[in-house]
Amino acid sequence: MYCTVLTASKSGGIGNGLTYDAGDLQLQPGMLVRVPLRNKLVEAIVTDVRNDAPATEYDLKKVHGVFHPTPLLSPEQIATVRWMADYYLTTLRQAIGVWLPAPPWIKLLPKKTNAYRLSGKDISIIRGKKQQTLLETLTGKDWLSEDELLRESGSSKATLRGLVTKGFIEEESREASSHAANFSASLKQLPALTPLQEKVEESIRHDPRPSLLFGITGSGKTEIYAQLIVDALKKGKQAIVLVPEILLTEHSIHRYQALLDRSSIAVIHSRLTPAARRNLWQRVHRGEISLVLGSRSALFAPMRYLGLVIIDEEHEWTYKNEQTPRYHAREVAEELCNQFGAKLVFGTATPSLEAWTRAREGRYHLERLPQRYREQALPDVKIVDLAQVNFGSMYPFSPPLLDAIEDRLRRHEQSVLFLNRRGIATSLLCLQCRRRIVSPESQLPFTVHQSRDGRPYLLDHTSGLTADVPNLCPHCQSTKLLAVGAGTQKVEDILRRKFPQARILRADADTLAHPEQMRELLHMMRERKADILLGTQSVVKGLDLPEVTLAAVILADVGLSLPHFRAGERIFQLLTQLTGRSGRAKQGEVIIQTFRPDAPEIVAASKHETEKYLDQELKLRTYTGYPPAQEMVRLIVRDDMGGVQAKKLTMQLQQAIDAQTLRITAKCAPTFFGGGKVWQVLLRGEHPRELLRDRAVGDAVIDVDPIETV
Ligand code: ADP
Ligand code: ZN
Repeated sequence: MYCTVLTASKSGGIGNGLTYDAGDLQLQPGMLVRVPLRNKLVEAIVTDVRNDAPATEYDLKKVHGVFHPTPLLSPEQIATVRWMADYYLTTLRQAIGVWLPAPPWIKLLPKKTNAYRLSGKDISIIRGKKQQTLLETLTGKDWLSEDELLRESGSSKATLRGLVTKGFIEEESREASSHAANFSASLKQLPALTPLQEKVEESIRHDPRPSLLFGITGSGKTEIYAQLIVDALKKGKQAIVLVPEILLTEHSIHRYQALLDRSSIAVIHSRLTPAARRNLWQRVHRGEISLVLGSRSALFAPMRYLGLVIIDEEHEWTYKNEQTPRYHAREVAEELCNQFGAKLVFGTATPSLEAWTRAREGRYHLERLPQRYREQALPDVKIVDLAQVNFGSMYPFSPPLLDAIEDRLRRHEQSVLFLNRRGIATSLLCLQCRRRIVSPESQLPFTVHQSRDGRPYLLDHTSGLTADVPNLCPHCQSTKLLAVGAGTQKVEDILRRKFPQARILRADADTLAHPEQMRELLHMMRERKADILLGTQSVVKGLDLPEVTLAAVILADVGLSLPHFRAGERIFQLLTQLTGRSGRAKQGEVIIQTFRPDAPEIVAASKHETEKYLDQELKLRTYTGYPPAQEMVRLIVRDDMGGVQAKKLTMQLQQAIDAQTLRITAKCAPTFFGGGKVWQVLLRGEHPRELLRDRAVGDAVIDVDPIETV
């Protein structure tokens, strides 16, 4: 037998593994073996086995031995690793990196301890009291570990040794734990679904395709997940539930903790210490865990009997890994579930365009939950047209919004004010026709920048095109052009000036180092130690606050002005999440401030018309040639000479495209936040991935199906 293995040592050039002769060893993918490498013996994981000798003129070195018969990763998981490397154009080593804690991997193997049982030899001849006690302890039992045996019998090691030497007791090195796959033993409290939820759950369970559960906020998707988990465990299978940000999803974690014994749930996230991560990994590997709960990396938990994967808030951008391997959890989950024959469920109130297209095409099974549990009403949404507002010194606060905040302060209720994270992106807007000035190259908005001499100019971040700031609107010839944008800091200052008595919390990238701090802010809100929470994306995600009766978007257009083809979708998701979550306990109000009250994402979100918006946006993507209508790959070049390199790379790719008459466009430009040193090449069209396969791209990082493209 021959095998390909990945060594733990990161020597260059062997990222896709080395071939060894396994001799008579019965190897399986995922096993940990010992192999010779440059005069040393090192640990390595088997990624492939086959019977025919590979064609090579060198003598193949031999595998020295297997560390343990249990593979570290199952054949299904190894197959998924191979798929990841292939799809995301990475090496196997890069792909497997997310599946295994840092080497040495040998530390991950199940530990062995000595265990004992009676050998069957006649023990009636034993007279010693101590020896008799020890033998009685073993009578009628299968293997006991040394610890258990000495503790239960109260014997000494010497007594035990003596009996082993005389052959009355058998000794064997056995695994500390070999749990049977009885995952449903940990079930505590079963869910009670409404008739509608039950119907939906059954339909999901019986459909072999991935299911998209499209249910408005508060419709009870979590209850359906709970029932699906119960069904999986009862069939002897394990489940994984992914959530976008573990620390901001405490309420759903509590739900699962009510369902199952805590000891059979593993909560995995990216901020675990290496030791804690290793420990959880081993517990999952030993089969002690029925349910893994976590952010995107929880998908890589080493479960051997995977039967169900649930991805909650499927539309969230955190499911995309922004480091190599730049995978998307949605895609990897699909492959993993394929391999295991496991059920895959996506849940959301605002499906991503990707999931929506697949549901429309029938590749995903679609189920809807259009009502809230107990049919609680959705809040009223008011749109404030900022083009009609006289701000004075209060920009960007309109009088209706200030009134609404003041009203809440007087009634001792709470407000949440949302501003897009990327508040620095400024676009040029015409107040007459309300269109943004777009680049003729990409059809995406120009952003406003200042040159060194202080002169403003327009830049298209996807093509690099620059232009002077026009005096007249190119659409309607109006002179009422306004550069639109505002940051959280400035907004907070205005708020404090206007409401000096209010207790204001600010949550954005500058004030939050990690989500733990966001959780504290949410606690303060829940305990009513604050009146106003002002913040960015995370404010929307963690918004499950019963005393909040006002949720406002300060400038819905900030997101729209980001030169990004997903900007509209993103704003729609944020607005819908926000409108769906305010007024959970009391009747709530939502205010959306915008310069473009007729923008499709704003109108649709205010009327709760999700499907209409998605279909409309999909048409636009098809027309303009962006994902999911077309495939996209991004190459990222980081270098002081990034521009020169990116342009050279683009030229080479363009030559290949022309030579093979491929239907792919290649464009390069500096990235928005890269300070001129980070450039990107965007490839769009038919199978851009294939163009890159086996092609040297220098130090450029490959990002397949990118989410960030600015
Ligand atoms: P979603 O995840 O769809 O936003 P949730 O699962 O959080 O909705 O449900 C909203 C609220 O309704 C929660 O407080 C939940 O406990 C409650 N709920 C939903 N379904 C049921 C049910 N079948 N029995 C009891 N409570 C339910
Ligand atoms: Zn105009």
